[in-house]
Amino acid sequence: MPKNHVRLYIPGPIEVSPATFAAMSAPMIGHRGGEFVKLYEEIHPQLQQLFGTTQPVFLSTSSAWGLMEASIRNLVAKKALICACGAFSDKWLDVAKRCGKQAEALQVEWGQPILPADLEAKLASGEFDVVTLVHNETSTGVQNPLAELAAIVRKFPDVLLVVDTVSSFSAVPIPTDQLGIDVVLTGSQKALALPPGLGLFTVSERAMERAASIPDRGYYFDFLEFQKNWEKMMTPSTPCISLLFGLRHQLATIFSEGLEARFARHERLNNTVHDWVSANGFEHFAPEGYRSKSLTCVANNRDIDVSAWIKAMREKHSLVINGGYGKIKNITFRISNMGDETDTSIASMLEAISDTLPPLK
Ligand SMILES: *Cc1c(COP(=O)(O)O)cnc(C)c1O
Repeated sequence: MPKNHVRLYIPGPIEVSPATFAAMSAPMIGHRGGEFVKLYEEIHPQLQQLFGTTQPVFLSTSSAWGLMEASIRNLVAKKALICACGAFSDKWLDVAKRCGKQAEALQVEWGQPILPADLEAKLASGEFDVVTLVHNETSTGVQNPLAELAAIVRKFPDVLLVVDTVSSFSAVPIPTDQLGIDVVLTGSQKALALPPGLGLFTVSERAMERAASIPDRGYYFDFLEFQKNWEKMMTPSTPCISLLFGLRHQLATIFSEGLEARFARHERLNNTVHDWVSANGFEHFAPEGYRSKSLTCVANNRDIDVSAWIKAMREKHSLVINGGYGKIKNITFRISNMGDETDTSIASMLEAISDTLPPLK
């Protein structure tokens, strides 16, 4: 790593290992030939396992927002219900409207989770045909109760469930088929520990059928184009091949550690950060029982100068955490424990941030 390397403990993009960068620098291959097909065939079963699905897993050369917009364009005929509980989930309402779709928010206060009873009450109106949900609301550190919410949506046969798992994917299990989720989407720069630029998603058969009935899906994000090309183990347009080399490397790493061990490591490192939070007189922004396992959103109840603190850790220890997102900047800060982090790397980060933390008054 270069001398000026500042280690990222922000919730995305996160640290990318030298081994991943090395894997990404493999010589280029054509995307319409056997070498590409072989690459896709090699990573596909592992991706299906991570997605908890037997459905196709598609690769999109875009960040996750491309796929969030795609889900709206491909699936909403009547009206989308946007489960809104933070910056990423709230924004989805705006995205849906900008796509010219009818949409309404089930809005809860930032820091609170989406609750099954509220979702059921909204869906009972019969107005909606799509629900969007952010599993792990990265801005507030809330992990929504995915299984319970999916069970509610499944009571309404005509409603499709689209779930953003951008900051939880590969850090916690996502049993897509078991929960009956229609679209699960994620991006490369969070727990997968790759550079940004690759989106990954899976689409249920009934969601694919819905898409076929929707006009004006466009081209770049047309689910049917992805399906058609997937049948040949290809992508609609030229994909980010270097990122896919990186993904192949990361998948090998993930499966040699083992999924259970990986999930347990994320939980353990997350608990280590939680211990630091209480030992230093801070509180959590998210309520107990709904806290993310891949990052911690800390309430700045000590009222410290978060940006000065982050500047100090950057200068003295060459690492950064995040100073809060959007309207909760400075009243919260966030620490990521996702990706390739270890007990040692989390311990030394906590030491560094403690060293620069203003003393308790
Ligand atoms: C980071 C993040 C996104 C945005 O992803 P982009 O790569 O910027 O498109 C969306 N949703 C969640 C939950 C995220 O954490």
